[in-house]
Amino acid sequence: MTDTGSSKGAPKDDVAELARRRGYLGQAFEIYGAAAGFYDYGPLGAGLKRRVENKWRDFYMREGFYEIETTSVVPRSVFEASGHLESFTDPTVLCTRCKNFFRVAEDLDVGKKCPDCGGMLEAAGEINLMFQTRIGVPKAGSEESTKSEAYLRPETAQGIFLNFQRLLRFNRDKLPFGIIQIGKAYRNEISPRQSLIRLREFTLAEVEVFVAPRDKNSHPEFDAVADRVLQLLPASSNTNYEEKSVGEAVRSGIMANEYLGYHIAKVDEFLEGLGIPHAKLRFRQHHRDEMAHYATDCWDAEFLSDRYGWMEIVGVADRGDYDLKAHASSSNTDMSVRTEQGKIIPHVIEPSYGMDRIFYALLESAYYKEQVGKENRQVLKLKSELAPIKAAVFPLLNRAELKEKAREVFQNLRDASIFVEYDGSGSIGRRYRRQDEIGTPYCITIDYETLEDDAVTIRERDTMKQVRVPIAEVEKVLA
Ligand SMILES: [Zn+2]
Repeated sequence: MTDTGSSKGAPKDDVAELARRRGYLGQAFEIYGAAAGFYDYGPLGAGLKRRVENKWRDFYMREGFYEIETTSVVPRSVFEASGHLESFTDPTVLCTRCKNFFRVAEDLDVGKKCPDCGGMLEAAGEINLMFQTRIGVPKAGSEESTKSEAYLRPETAQGIFLNFQRLLRFNRDKLPFGIIQIGKAYRNEISPRQSLIRLREFTLAEVEVFVAPRDKNSHPEFDAVADRVLQLLPASSNTNYEEKSVGEAVRSGIMANEYLGYHIAKVDEFLEGLGIPHAKLRFRQHHRDEMAHYATDCWDAEFLSDRYGWMEIVGVADRGDYDLKAHASSSNTDMSVRTEQGKIIPHVIEPSYGMDRIFYALLESAYYKEQVGKENRQVLKLKSELAPIKAAVFPLLNRAELKEKAREVFQNLRDASIFVEYDGSGSIGRRYRRQDEIGTPYCITIDYETLEDDAVTIRERDTMKQVRVPIAEVEKVLA
C-alpha cells in the first residue's frame, strides 16, 4: 500500500464522475433528455455488477439454496393479496404553485416550501409507487376491466411465494429451505433526487428462507456465526450504536430469533467479502411505524457513504407467515406444510439486497486519490475477483515485434478465459493511469528483453510494485 498522500475524503462527485467518464454508469435516455431514477450500466459497470451477482449466487448456493427466475409483470390480484396495492405507498405533499408532488419523508424537512419553486406545500395523501400496466388488449367496445390490470413487481419475493407449493415439493415436502432470485424490480418514485441511490428501476437479489415457526430459534449453523461482531443500532436506542456479537444480540432479545440473527450475520459476511470496510457498515433496526406492512422484525444493513451519509443497502426482515397466509386465503390454495407438529404455515426470513446501491458502495469504498511523486493518481482498489478487467497487456513501445508478442500473450490469456485488455497506444504512464482508474489489478508489459528471456513485467495496481515473471507462469500469477 502506498499510504503517502492517499485520501478517501475526495470531493463528493469524484466517484460519480469517474464512473461516468470510464464507462461504469450513465444516465438512461440521455440523448432524449434523461428521466430521473434510471441508469444504464456501461461495459465496465455491467462487468462489475455481473461479478458481484455471481459472487452472491455462489455465496447462497453454498447454503444449499436454489435459484429461480419469475416474471416482472404481475396481475393485480397478486398485489391485492400481498397488500402492496393498499400499502406500498408514500405520503406526499403537493406544491400549490407548480403542482409538483413530493415525498414527505425527504422533502418536508426542507420546510413548508416547495424545493423547486418556493411555493406553499399541502398534504396530498398516499400515492402508490407501483408502475401500472395491462395484460393484453380489452375486447373492442368493452371497458377496461381490473382483470387485465397488472403491475411491474416492486420486489422479486412475491414470485417466490407464488411458487411455494412447487418449491416445497421440489424440496420433498421438508422444511426449512431457501430460494434465491436476482432480477429487476420497479418503484415509481415520486421525486427521486439522490440520483444513483433512489432508482425507479433497480436490481434486487432476494433470499426467502422458509422455516417452521417453532424452529426459528434454533438455526443448526448458528454457532458458526455467533461470535461475529456487528455495529448495531436497535430501535430501543435511537442515538448510539453498540458493538455486539450476533450471539449476544439474539440472547438478549434485541434480535427476534436465531434465524434472523444468522442471516444478518451472513449479510455482514457477504458485504465484507466484497471489500466494503466493516467500519462503514451498521445494522439498524426498524421502528414499528417504519416497518413494511408484512414484517414483524426488520434490520437494514447501512453503508456510511461520503456522499449520502448512512444509506440502506440490504434489508433483512422476518416476514412471519404474512405472505403465505395472504395468498392462501386470496387464492384458496393450501400453503401449509405437514410436520411432526401438525400442519403449519412456514415463516419467512428474507435478506433483500439492493444491488445498485451495493454497486455504488463498492465504487466509493474502492476509490482512492493518491499523490505519487508529482502526480495525482485516481485508483479503484477493487478486489481482483470483482475487477471487470483482470489485466491489461501492453507492448512497451509501438514496434511491430513487441506488438506481435504482446498480442500473443493477450490471446493466450483470453483463451484461458481470463478477461484481459490489450492497450498499445499512448505513453506507458498514461496506460497505467487509465487501468488504475478502472480498477484493473495487473498490467503486463512486453519489452525487448521479453523477446530474449520470454518473461514479462507485471505491475500490481495497489502497491505499484513490478515483478518479472516468465510468460509460462503469467496465468498462474494472475489466478
Ligand atoms: Zn413548486
